[in-house]
Amino acid sequence: MSFTSKRESIKKIAKKRALKLLKMARETYDKDPKLSKRYVELARKIAMKHRIHLPAAFCRKCNTIFIPGKTLKIRISSKQILYICLVCNYTRRKVIT
Ligand SMILES: [Zn+2]
Repeated sequence: MSFTSKRESIKKIAKKRALKLLKMARETYDKDPKLSKRYVELARKIAMKHRIHLPAAFCRKCNTIFIPGKTLKIRISSKQILYICLVCNYTRRKVIT
């Protein structure tokens, strides 16, 4: 295996692991929000280390997993979409183009 493809497969495995952690965070939130946050933290650590792009499925400020209607409120106006974390009120804007 060449160096590049080996590095790529490590990245793939890391991404799988990070996405699984996000899934676990979603499943755990109701029972144990603290543990859920810990899973998000771990996923972010893996993503940072391997420079993987993660879906915006969690709050960047408080590491809460986003569950629409429960931890996330979405506001859509004509110019932008607002993603509001219901735990810490952190708001992320996405401009519609
Ligand atoms: Zn938050």
